[in-house]
Amino acid sequence: MESWPVPGIRPMPVLVPPVMISDSLTGGLTHASESATFSLYVCGITPYDATHLGHASTYLTYDLLIRLMHASGRTVRYTQNVTDVDDPLLERAVATGQNWQELAREQTDLFRADMQYLSVFPPTDYVAVSERILEISAAVAGLLSCGLAYPVPSDHAEPDIYLDVRAASGAAPSWSFGALLPAGASAEHTFDEHGGDSRRVGKRHPLDSLLWRSQRPGEPSWDVAGLPSGRPGWHVECAVIAAGAQQLPYDVQGGGSDLRYPHHDYSSQHAAAIYGRPLARVFSHVGLVSLGGEKMSKSLGNLVFIRDWRIRGVDPAAIRLAVLSHHYRDEWDWHDAILGTASVRLRRWRDAALAGRHKVTSGSGVGRAVAQDFAAALANDLDTVTAWSILDDWAAAPTDVLVVADAVSALTGVTLLDAGAS
Ligand SMILES: [Zn+2]
Repeated sequence: MESWPVPGIRPMPVLVPPVMISDSLTGGLTHASESATFSLYVCGITPYDATHLGHASTYLTYDLLIRLMHASGRTVRYTQNVTDVDDPLLERAVATGQNWQELAREQTDLFRADMQYLSVFPPTDYVAVSERILEISAAVAGLLSCGLAYPVPSDHAEPDIYLDVRAASGAAPSWSFGALLPAGASAEHTFDEHGGDSRRVGKRHPLDSLLWRSQRPGEPSWDVAGLPSGRPGWHVECAVIAAGAQQLPYDVQGGGSDLRYPHHDYSSQHAAAIYGRPLARVFSHVGLVSLGGEKMSKSLGNLVFIRDWRIRGVDPAAIRLAVLSHHYRDEWDWHDAILGTASVRLRRWRDAALAGRHKVTSGSGVGRAVAQDFAAALANDLDTVTAWSILDDWAAAPTDVLVVADAVSALTGVTLLDAGAS
């Protein structure tokens, strides 16, 4: 489907060091890319409540990674899905009496507008589940025919189809099932906390996951070969969309930390069972944002929406500075004061750029050193906390404004100097 326009970008004035990113599989840092290309899959929104601060935190984080990869001269292939066939969206549509496709279209439009407002790079492949039903259903039918999936009786006329996780693990050695389960966590508990149904009667194993849900009254369904009329489950949607856009495995799969298990673990297991390869090589996760100490979530109704700031005319660069004033892997609590502090910081940087725009110390290379340190901080697992402090120090005695402003613009999209001021 259509994504949104690519933001303007300044050329990077200094070399970007190798980009290292934290891998949830190992807990250590690893190279984000090992070749001249960089492929990224970031799980997209379920379009019924777009775009809240948690979304912004995820997509601004991966925008940094994409900008670093562009600046280091790599070709970036970036896939993002839209989960427009999923329980929460369909439940919302029923609750409000809105057509589910209309709701999805309206919320996806809002998301695009918010991403454009925040100068976030668009995916090269932006794919809705509803656009890949045939491919997803063919994959599920394939799993069924080779014995890795099986029917589970439902209260309705037709059975649902589940993945047999033990059989799939045996048949797909390229993925170690449970590799992304956090240490010490209970698999069944975590599975159930995130939409799983470990106690469903008729399953072979509590952790077996839904691949295809047969038609229920009032729900959309598709008539496809080899399966009951119905719709796909969540994990297989991402596996098939990812494989349809790029060769597996991607360099990095990213998303909020609530997607680590089961969603990312299962998507890779599904991909391994269907295609013989996991979805990604590296798995990256962004810490969740809370509000007043409570996890920010749709179910609690304590969401902060980007569109409210957009309508109020808040500078999107201040939002970026605010959201990225914490390390992306940390969990953090939102307060309005964070946006105020970021606005003051942005004004200080811009005032410094304006005041120092004629102070060029090209002989000493001060600006290049600042740009280099700034890039090095970001290349070290997207360390925005250190990067912002480097800019704070520079703003105290600004020199070589053009070099520094170009580096900041290329890597973060934040403009320090209006074109007319130089
Ligand atoms: Zn996903």
